[in-house]
Amino acid sequence: MNCLFCKIASHEIPSQIVYEDDDVVAFNDINPVAPHHILIIPREHISTLNDLKEEHKAMTGHILLTAQKLAKELDIAETGYRVVFNCNRGAGQAVFHIHLHLIGGRSLTWPPG
Ligand code: AMP
Ligand code: ZN
Repeated sequence: MNCLFCKIASHEIPSQIVYEDDDVVAFNDINPVAPHHILIIPREHISTLNDLKEEHKAMTGHILLTAQKLAKELDIAETGYRVVFNCNRGAGQAVFHIHLHLIGGRSLTWPPG
């Protein structure tokens, strides 16, 4: 599978990994949009949110709880942070292996562009 994030998950391509376990990997975004910008991905290759199935329910919950855990560790849980899945190009998805953006460390405006 010629996928950048699969290669990051398998350590074939180096990245700044901040958390990993059997199911998910979290690493710093190479082009951060805020003081804290982490991507949380499943080890399993899933292209977009549209490809999620019933069998992925536990993994998606695990990704969200990983975001919560990292936000607490970074001390942004109380001040606020944002989690985003972009789905397909119209929403800005550029890497087709699902990833949750965890963004924080500054005040964030709404709505997004
Ligand atoms: P998206 O636009 O939602 O698909 O997000 C893709 C994200 O991956 C962007 O925020 C990029 O900065 C980030 N990115 C691309 N290549 C790398 C890399 N090698 N290591 C870490 N983050 C990356
Ligand atoms: Zn992949």
